[in-house]
Amino acid sequence: MMIRRKKIYDGKAKTLYEGPEKDTLIQHFKDDATAFNAEKHAIIDGKGVLNQRICEYIFQQLEAIGIRTHFIRSLNMREQLIHKVEIIPVEVVVRNMAAGSLVKRLGLNKGDTLSETLVEYFYKNDTLGDPLISEDHITVLGWADEEEIEDMRALALRVNDFLRGLFANANIHLVDFKLEFGRLWENDTVEIVLADEISPDNCRLWDKETNDSLDKDRFRYDTGDMLEAYREVANRLGLMTQSGRDDIAGPVLVK
Ligand code: UDP
Repeated sequence: MMIRRKKIYDGKAKTLYEGPEKDTLIQHFKDDATAFNAEKHAIIDGKGVLNQRICEYIFQQLEAIGIRTHFIRSLNMREQLIHKVEIIPVEVVVRNMAAGSLVKRLGLNKGDTLSETLVEYFYKNDTLGDPLISEDHITVLGWADEEEIEDMRALALRVNDFLRGLFANANIHLVDFKLEFGRLWENDTVEIVLADEISPDNCRLWDKETNDSLDKDRFRYDTGDMLEAYREVANRLGLMTQSGRDDIAGPVLVK
């Protein structure tokens, strides 16, 4: 018998299903790759499995240093059991070097180092193309209060400090990345926790020697094999099992 699960939300790279326990969801990582607000789309066989594995590892490491996330445990190679949270409609982008929209918006040079870590906020709204917003927009429009913004900012900077080190050990520059946060209600208390995912889909990761992109920019700008880059990231983080590729390859046709 097929077990049918209730779909809660179908996103560009992930689907959320109702979870098996109260206040939980299942986060399913798809093979879909999208860019430029979904104008560009492709199916990259095995991407979901790699992102799930990388995200699982990063969230577990963050939990180990006391940063709460929505992650509970992995269920299989593509799916995670997560806490149901109330997503704050703000994308928090952390930047260590200039790249992407920052370069375009302010006329900087790609790869410029920033004197300090820069935190930016974008309104999470596909119809509007995720516009850049200020802290005032967030409070005035009621998306989060001042205390919550302070929590998001502090958490984002802690995540950045930790991830910079983690990737530096893998000979990778963490150029920038995007985070999403949610409110986790427990009895009468509410806490801001890290939600969504952290993977090469929402980070810029440059090889320290060559400055090669090991992230979604390969797909955005057709500059190389995306899956190979994601595999390289997983490998450098020590996440590939001995069977390596076989674990993440799709079904094999038996003749
Ligand atoms: N990012 C993301 N989702 C978005 C927008 C950005 O994950 O909807 C990530 C992106 O991968 C990069 C960082 O946030 O690591 C900064 O992205 P940027 O603002 O430069 O936008 P881009 O030009 O990449 O769309």
